[in-house]
Amino acid sequence: MDLMEYQAKELFAKHNVSVTLGVVITDPAEAAAAAESLGGRVVVKAQVKTGGRGKAGGVKLATDPQDAVVKAGEILGMDIKGHTVRRVLIAPAADIADEYYFSFLVDRAERDYLCIASVEGGVEIEITAVEKPEAVAKVSIDPLVGVDAAKAAEIVAATGFPAEVADQAMEAIQRLWDVFIREDATLVEVNPLVKLGDGSLEALDGKVTLDGNADFRQPDHAAFELRDEVDPLELAAKEKGLNYVKLDGEVGIIGNGAGLVMSTLDVVAYAGEAHGGVKPANFLDIGGGASAQVMADGLHIILGDPQVKAVFVNVFGGITACDAVADGIVHALAMLGDDADKPLVVRLDGNNVEAGHRILVEANHPLVTIVDTMDGAAEKAAELANA
Ligand code: GDP
Ligand code: MN
Repeated sequence: MDLMEYQAKELFAKHNVSVTLGVVITDPAEAAAAAESLGGRVVVKAQVKTGGRGKAGGVKLATDPQDAVVKAGEILGMDIKGHTVRRVLIAPAADIADEYYFSFLVDRAERDYLCIASVEGGVEIEITAVEKPEAVAKVSIDPLVGVDAAKAAEIVAATGFPAEVADQAMEAIQRLWDVFIREDATLVEVNPLVKLGDGSLEALDGKVTLDGNADFRQPDHAAFELRDEVDPLELAAKEKGLNYVKLDGEVGIIGNGAGLVMSTLDVVAYAGEAHGGVKPANFLDIGGGASAQVMADGLHIILGDPQVKAVFVNVFGGITACDAVADGIVHALAMLGDDADKPLVVRLDGNNVEAGHRILVEANHPLVTIVDTMDGAAEKAAELANA
């Protein structure tokens, strides 16, 4: 799960990283009191799960509480890279002397952790890394040792933090490491980490990705989930315990097994090229036990996506054999009744495939087309989605 800036800063504060929390509001009218309480001169910052808010006009300085109301009004409702701004953070305007970049992340290729840091912060690190790679330090971290004082000193030296902030940077780095490890994060990024006019270091922005696999031992993290920020279809799927990811295409996909579903996305995307460029609308893995209820839940979610024009059900019968899956499809369609209103292409293979086909043929549902091969079914589904 990606966190908003204000949530990341809450975690920073919990681990004693220097931050200013500010006040989160959802209505411009609330900006006046918030700014008042913070001393008048504030920065108004869009809270969306994407970077480059500054460039997009989502970070604005306000000279006084009235100005804060105006700036909050401009930013709330704004669209930043497809994200609607529903919340803004009001924080005291910082007096910035210098901006640095700092991050910890998982380096999967090297099977360890990586620190990326630069004294040229504030701007996009990807650009700095290309245009001025010598300004970006990369220090790998042995997961069994972590970041102790020696490692922090190595990072400070490699980054070239100026002497007057070196001690503070040492401390900040170890505290950010606490955030990274103790909160089970896969990314902790601070851009900018700033030196303020008075010489102190502060995390002025924060980006944290939490590892959902660790949710079982991080009960506090559930509170970070913002229901209004989650795609409503993904939310409904989660409530049904379905493994669903919304994508941007027209062909709904249901399959069993993550690998089969992934390759189904590929063949549909490929087939779609010849049919008006239609694409997969979602990832949905209904897993091993494809019961009628699970099939109905899955179909219901997919048919609830107004972008979907056709559905491709691609199932390989294993422990749950094809006849059980076919039964599931027939019952699911009966359960959905008039809610099932888009063509369904079904491809079954594997255990008891003949019995599965027989069930579908006998049911003779007007929306269902049976196709024997995965490529052929993808082709048919793309064609129907483009009709
Ligand atoms: P991002 O563009 O989404 O990464 O948002 P940031 O929080 O990093 O803000 C972008 C830039 O706005 C920062 O690099 C700063 O230069 C500037 N900025 C953010 N907060 C303040 C502030 O309190 N005072 C001043 N003077 N500038 C700020
Ligand atoms: Mn930033």
